[in-house]
Amino acid sequence: MEDFEIVDLAIDVLSNVTSLVNESLYSELGGELKILWSTKNYFYACASVGSEVDEPPKHYITLSYETAVLLYRDIELYSKYIESGIDNGMFDKIFKDFNYPKTLFFHSDQELSCKQMFISGVTWIFYHELGHLIQEHGYIRKKHGCHVCTDIVDCASNDIENHTVLSGRASAVSHVTEMAADYYATVSCLIALLMHFEGEELEAETRSFTSALALVLYRFHGINPYERTEVPYGSHPQPLIRLEQTMPLIFEFYDKFDLADEKSCNLNRADLVNMTSWSSFTAGIFWLKKGNQKGIPEDFMISGSLQRPGMIEYHRVMVDIWDAINPEIEKVKRHSNPYAELQFSDQYRKILQNGG
Ligand SMILES: [Zn+2]
Repeated sequence: MEDFEIVDLAIDVLSNVTSLVNESLYSELGGELKILWSTKNYFYACASVGSEVDEPPKHYITLSYETAVLLYRDIELYSKYIESGIDNGMFDKIFKDFNYPKTLFFHSDQELSCKQMFISGVTWIFYHELGHLIQEHGYIRKKHGCHVCTDIVDCASNDIENHTVLSGRASAVSHVTEMAADYYATVSCLIALLMHFEGEELEAETRSFTSALALVLYRFHGINPYERTEVPYGSHPQPLIRLEQTMPLIFEFYDKFDLADEKSCNLNRADLVNMTSWSSFTAGIFWLKKGNQKGIPEDFMISGSLQRPGMIEYHRVMVDIWDAINPEIEKVKRHSNPYAELQFSDQYRKILQNGG
């Protein structure tokens, strides 16, 4: 695909999704959601508002054209990397009991497979921004001193856009609202997959989505080693923390359904755990190769969400700050979808309290 064709595809897909969201949600609120395109030459997405929280919502999602091109090229290269089988010796050892995919081209037309994966990746980015807007995170963040305006910027070059580095409570509010947007995006994409696919196609599309999500988050992360985090710092959680928070949602959410009976799909929880680990691991290795990095930096690969150094302390802060701001979000959010709203189970809270 030429760059302009990738951009056309992204515009087409996101215009359709925007129309659906307007029909099902914004029209009822007397407001409107618009998608805008930016010529910034880096990976950039932004959620902005042109209304007060007590007015009908005028919401905007902006993506750069370059976001679409970079994502598609990552997917294309990653698919070729998997197809090459060059690291299968390593994967054989790590994923001994899992018949991992040897190709991501589940359509005979390879380009079509990349397009499908691209659509799920770009839709996840869209829903991440929508999650910020639906829950009015811009208003919440401004109230807590994260930003002077209500715009929320997500880009892979945070240094370019964020001039002040957040710390303390403002950083915690910013981090947890990022997690809430990730949660919203992931569950919304899974709901869409369950609505549109079944059987082997659902399996292939789910795998494709897990790889696309891992590629987006590794693009945010780059090839840097993981930095130990006990207290939130800056505007976003480290992308590897985000990856470890979002991937389990896939098997937790699918667990609510009888996939065999309702969707003629034989995926069980163990398959999904393996699938998400494999996608995250291969995306990480691919990213290192793409960056010509020799060896694997410390803590670079996905692990259990609480296993990284400092994570118990960090997630305690996340749970506390979410409990503190959630009542404020409840008052201003534009729509309720209990499935898609960030929540922490009693069991998880207990694990944090007991120190892991
Ligand atoms: Zn965000």
